[in-house]
Amino acid sequence: MKIGVISADIASESRVALTPDAVKKLRKLGFEVVIQSGAGQAAYYADALYQAAGADIASSSAEVIAQSQIITTIHDLPAEVAEHLSAGQIVVGMLDPYRNTQLDTYAAKGVTAFAMELLPRTLSRAQNMDVLSSQANLAGYKAVLLAANEYSRPFPMFMTSAGTVKPAKVVILGVGVAGLQAIATAKRLGAVVEASDLRPAAKEQVESLGGKWLDVPMSDDEAQKAKATGGYAWTPSEQYIKDQAAVVDKALSNADIVITTAQIPGRQAPRLVHQATLAKMKAGSVLIDMAAGTGGNVEGSAPNETVTTDNGVRIVGAANIPSMLAAQSSDLYANNLVNFITTLIAPAATDDASANKLALNLDMEDEIQGALAVTHDNQVRLAKR
Ligand code: NAD
Repeated sequence: MKIGVISADIASESRVALTPDAVKKLRKLGFEVVIQSGAGQAAYYADALYQAAGADIASSSAEVIAQSQIITTIHDLPAEVAEHLSAGQIVVGMLDPYRNTQLDTYAAKGVTAFAMELLPRTLSRAQNMDVLSSQANLAGYKAVLLAANEYSRPFPMFMTSAGTVKPAKVVILGVGVAGLQAIATAKRLGAVVEASDLRPAAKEQVESLGGKWLDVPMSDDEAQKAKATGGYAWTPSEQYIKDQAAVVDKALSNADIVITTAQIPGRQAPRLVHQATLAKMKAGSVLIDMAAGTGGNVEGSAPNETVTTDNGVRIVGAANIPSMLAAQSSDLYANNLVNFITTLIAPAATDDASANKLALNLDMEDEIQGALAVTHDNQVRLAKR
């Protein structure tokens, strides 16, 4: 059975879905692999490395699709690539399921499409397939370095004969996987860190990393809701949003660096920083808006642009930070995909690891496959948000 790798082929994406190491693992399992020429180049994986790992090289995406049963990708395939798919083929990638306009096409063609973002994250056997976590962890780290690079003062405190340098004050809004790594990284660089999230469970995690929790008052009703959602973000009341804005306003008036990470799968990112607050911030302070690609947490941020406000505040619209660490993020993404693909295969009937002995085992009753499959059996399976 052959697995194909399609090149992301867009300027803003440097990652590749499978790496040479992943090819070796898949070969050992009995798969063959074909990669579109140049797909790994921007992540420093040249065609020759894939060939040495046992992959075939194809000159076009159409050729990869023609040879493959399972097609791997970072983002969804462009329409002109997807048109080459046919019944029974499988697509695996970050398909952006709730904004994907191609699902009807996949269903009509009889393609099974797996959106990796839909992984049930609390399931322990799924954790090694969790692309959102593997990419967000790296992004949280890099966001702090981006901020440090934009900021015209250092992060740590220095006592020098020319004077004392104060530590940077960093505020992190949204303390999921990316936010926690951002706190840890900013602390390592010597900053003073404050953080907030609408999940009360995040308080303990912030404090265990040496950060100060920015508390937003919560009604009993909301505290109940927070518990009932099993630790995921919930829709806050107008009162909570108002109180949160006041807490953010106070913290940011005094901050040097702000990193916002708040996202809600399938919906527009919540607006956490408003114009009125930006106007109170210090000249030279820096905001990294990690939700810039899904609507932005910061008013006025723009994806992949740095905007400077009239009062000298810089807002970096960081829409795709994992791509800036393409070599490492591709390694982890590829591991996630290999772990998932392994679940699609029936146990080999013999010890002979020949490629011909592998059989597909698609099972929509399986809690991982069933959760990720957005199209199967000519049906769109995604519930609306
Ligand atoms: P995310 O990228 O969806 O959002 C980032 C953070 O922003 C989250 O902590 C979220 O609560 C917060 N947020 C959303 N809206 C907000 C608002 N209006 N105000 C303030 N904060 C807001 O989150 P994520 O990093 O993907 O993690 C999502 C959840 O999944 C978390 O509860 C996390 O602990 C959990 N998780 C569990 C596992 C696991 O159990 N293996 C793995 C990864 C994540």
